[in-house]
Amino acid sequence: MRGLAVIDRRIFLRGTAGALAAPALAAPAIAQVKPHVVVVGGGAGGATAAKYLVSTGAELDVTLVEQNRQFVTPFTSNQFLAGLKPYEQLVFGYDNLAGRGVKLVFERVAGIARTAKRLRLADGSEIPYDRLIISPGIDFRYADVPGYSAEAAERMPHAWRGGDQLLLLKRRLDAVEDGGLIVIIAPPTPYRCPPAPYERASMMALALKRRGVKDVRIVILDAKDHFTMQPLFEDGWERHYPGVIEWQDPKMHGGIKSVDPKSMTVTTDLETHKAALVNVIPPQQAGRLGRDAGLTDETGWCPVDAGTMKSLVDANIHVIGDAAIGGDFPKSGFAANNEAKNTAMIVRHELLGGRLLPVRFTNHCWSTIAPDDAIKNGARYEPRDGKIVMLDPYTSQRDESAELREKQAKEAVGWYRGMTTDMFG
Ligand SMILES: Cc1cc2nc3c(=O)[nH]c(=O)nc-3n(C[C@H](O)[C@H](O)[C@H](O)COP(=O)(O)OP(=O)(O)OC[C@H]3O[C@@H](n4cnc5c(N)ncnc54)[C@H](O)[C@@H]3O)c2cc1C
Repeated sequence: MRGLAVIDRRIFLRGTAGALAAPALAAPAIAQVKPHVVVVGGGAGGATAAKYLVSTGAELDVTLVEQNRQFVTPFTSNQFLAGLKPYEQLVFGYDNLAGRGVKLVFERVAGIARTAKRLRLADGSEIPYDRLIISPGIDFRYADVPGYSAEAAERMPHAWRGGDQLLLLKRRLDAVEDGGLIVIIAPPTPYRCPPAPYERASMMALALKRRGVKDVRIVILDAKDHFTMQPLFEDGWERHYPGVIEWQDPKMHGGIKSVDPKSMTVTTDLETHKAALVNVIPPQQAGRLGRDAGLTDETGWCPVDAGTMKSLVDANIHVIGDAAIGGDFPKSGFAANNEAKNTAMIVRHELLGGRLLPVRFTNHCWSTIAPDDAIKNGARYEPRDGKIVMLDPYTSQRDESAELREKQAKEAVGWYRGMTTDMFG
């Protein structure tokens, strides 16, 4: 359990030597006596977990496996669409984590041999683990939107995971002309970041307003009959972008019958929209790795014990971030970061006997309606009988002052700086 056999080490290195950061080869003798914790996914959950596992002492051998060399934060990507933030400020690398002693492997994990406790990488190499933490994020149920697919996303971007999709959506938004129609298809719950589709509509409207584009409409076709902070968003839309954003619930549109990326049309039971831009945010499920490893249930998400974030399928694997379900878990970067720190503490405790505090966390989500006009909601969370329970939820008020909204917009900027420093600093 505690040591890596020489043969394991050889398997680990096969085909990956070029991808490993320097610390991987620096101390093989020490690595053989330390428990090996492997983290998959270098986003909000995984990067934080890897950092906190090494930050609190050197007794663990920590490897982070991530398929991309850079992470583009989905959080604040809507502000990029509005032109409030340059793309470069969303992009982070992993050098600081390597400097802290995290071994980095840039490769896709193709599968998990759970009985043998090994990861199979796309390049054919394997990595053994004593304990595994996965934070693979989300995947899409493309087929749930008739006519939509990974290929269709090249014309009707989702832009829900950062990267090229986000750049594509921005290019398309910047090309919308006078009289143009934008359609946003908003997903059913549960999905990543509940307020984000509505913040996105706000930021699209801002981009068009700033560019002086006239007579545009943004129609949100929702799978839900209401959405988070709805009165606050609708009030903000009326004040900042009167007549631009229209929200339709399923009772009004009657369901999405099809999307056609060639003709750029969206057909509902009510009508066919011919759009200049279609942003399909499809229904979601756990990242493919969780599904392929048999860690999901019939919901498509990975059930976990909320007190430990351990998979209910395999107690050697912790699932954190958006991929996990088990009660009121919010699917946000803030929550993933909190879950990661709790999990790092639990893993250290179980492998090395480190201190164990009760699992508790908070979540606060800021949504920008316009520059200097941000709303927020949040709550604290704690496990009860294996499920996470939301306590003391709060939300912004409709009649709060302009000064408070401005203060909240500043808070959001501060949160992003703190969050990304916590993950990658
Ligand atoms: C528009 C938008 C706005 C948002 N705004 C906010 C906000 O204001 N506040 C907030 O808290 N949250 C926000 N979020 C939500 C936040 O981005 C996610 O909840 C958070 O990123 C989830 O973290 P995660 O670790 O689960 O997944 P991710 O951060 O997506 O990380 C998953 C990582 O795993 C890697 N990976 C996946 N599979 C494999 C594999 N097989 N092998 C190797 N690597 C793999 C991926 O490449 C990725 O880097 C927003 C999201 C969107 C889309």
